[in-house]
Amino acid sequence: MPTRRETFSIETKEELQAIDITDRVTRIVRASGLKEGIAVVFVAGSTCAVAATESEPGLLESDIPVALERLAPHDGRYAHNVGGGDANGHSHVRSTVLGSSVTLPFGEGKPLLGAWQHIVLFELDIRSRKREVVVQLVGE
Ligand code: ZN
Repeated sequence: MPTRRETFSIETKEELQAIDITDRVTRIVRASGLKEGIAVVFVAGSTCAVAATESEPGLLESDIPVALERLAPHDGRYAHNVGGGDANGHSHVRSTVLGSSVTLPFGEGKPLLGAWQHIVLFELDIRSRKREVVVQLVGE
């Protein structure tokens, strides 16, 4: 079965920045020439995440950051921060829980997302980063 792989990079600005990458993924699926299959959207990095969610400011700027702070508080105690690691133990925990990838089906040459469902990249590290996003397609 044919496969395609595209990569793009994103310069993030700050911790908890949410970036809607749905349009970029949709363009990659359309340009692939594949009509039916699955897409994996993966961010390479252990302090970042990709999720399928509604792209709405209340969620992205408040509800999700508040939930992440409850889950893995910024000023909590992390072994990662002590044993020669850097100061981003909470970033790794948040990334692990949210996940580095989303798998979604596509049909008729476009992602089969819900009406309000978007693909969003979350910067979880404590500083700006350059992120590589891999979109791997398998289909026909
Ligand atoms: Zn670290």
